[in-house]
Amino acid sequence: MFEQLKAQDQQYIMNTYGRFDVAIKSGKGASCEDFDGKSFIDFGSGIGVNSLGYCHTAWVQAVTAQAGQLNHTSNLYYTKPCGDLAKKLCDLTGYQKVFFGNSGAEANEGAIKIARKYGIDHYGPSHTKIITLVNSFHGRTVTTLAATGQDVFHQSFFPLTEGFDYALAGDIEDVKTKVDENTAAILVEFIQGEGGVLPLEKTFVKQLETLCQEKDILLIADEVQTGVGRTGTFYCYEQYGVHPNLVTSAKGLGGGLPIGAILADEKTCKVFGAGDHGSTFGGNPIACAGANCVVDVVGQPEFLEQVRQKGAYLKEKLSKMPHVKDIRQMGLMIGFDLDTGTSAQVAAECVREGLLVLTAKQAVRLLPPLTITYEEIDKGLAVLEQVLKTIV
Ligand SMILES: *Cc1c(COP(=O)(O)O)cnc(C)c1O
Repeated sequence: MFEQLKAQDQQYIMNTYGRFDVAIKSGKGASCEDFDGKSFIDFGSGIGVNSLGYCHTAWVQAVTAQAGQLNHTSNLYYTKPCGDLAKKLCDLTGYQKVFFGNSGAEANEGAIKIARKYGIDHYGPSHTKIITLVNSFHGRTVTTLAATGQDVFHQSFFPLTEGFDYALAGDIEDVKTKVDENTAAILVEFIQGEGGVLPLEKTFVKQLETLCQEKDILLIADEVQTGVGRTGTFYCYEQYGVHPNLVTSAKGLGGGLPIGAILADEKTCKVFGAGDHGSTFGGNPIACAGANCVVDVVGQPEFLEQVRQKGAYLKEKLSKMPHVKDIRQMGLMIGFDLDTGTSAQVAAECVREGLLVLTAKQAVRLLPPLTITYEEIDKGLAVLEQVLKTIV
């Protein structure tokens, strides 16, 4: 079965992914099975998406009920799930308005459009420059690639969208030299996820906010990976004590369905007018029904407290394992480096032994479902420890 599936995939799917040698058939909680009945503990959540794990009972119920009632209308009409979701997100965060799209890259595209329009409306047509950080990741569209501060992603896709410049993470002086009279926004991830699970320093983020406030530059937080409870607060900016003008969200928001969102504050919530932006699928009732369920669960303070506790538990256990160094952990977003071997080698070996983990450059990256049980954590860690013992 597996070989057939793999051959079909390789024949008909564009060759953009380096997949692990596994085909997943079904899952529940933080565990899944392949077509031969082999089971895996999942420390990756489909790259931080399955925030409630595989096929969470209330989520399945909400999504299937919505699928049976109303699947899609387009944004020409009002529907209930998207309005409910927008209200929930605003109530939880204090943001004023939301725009819904379908992915992280799209959420960032929309935020970039808002920043440009804000700059042009207030300061004229050349006020459109956006600063991002070296080693950032903001998506795969031509504009979000331009925003991404990693040359490897840029090769072969020139010309990219103009108007981006890259400053060194943690270096406020470098940011200040990149900012000029035409700078409209600074876009950052608080933890560079794809870049290696590298959190920004609190003082640097505070300095960014101050700089933005002084110069009326919009601060945009790309919380596509860090959002929706992943780091132990509903959004990660809470832990930095800042209030970005725009927050982008996706990955974990839908609990496994494609949805992206832009949260806008008082300053930015009315920048777009009728016709300025749109999406055929954005705010789709089924995706929003899934997201409503996720937000109902993850938005509870006790739930977030558990995320923080599980994260601390994982860090403690990891710190005692061989070859593990420099653990970065906020909630259930965890990365660590190895003092020997490669992250790719560890991930491949873990898969063979029944544990799904992610990598981010040199780091092993763990983004387990936020609902993972301690039993599942222990099972996964036992596999990881076994694998780490064998690497040289
Ligand atoms: C994954 C990711 C994106 C891109 O999201 P897609 O849904 O794949 O378009 C953007 N920004 C960050 C920080 C991400 O982790």
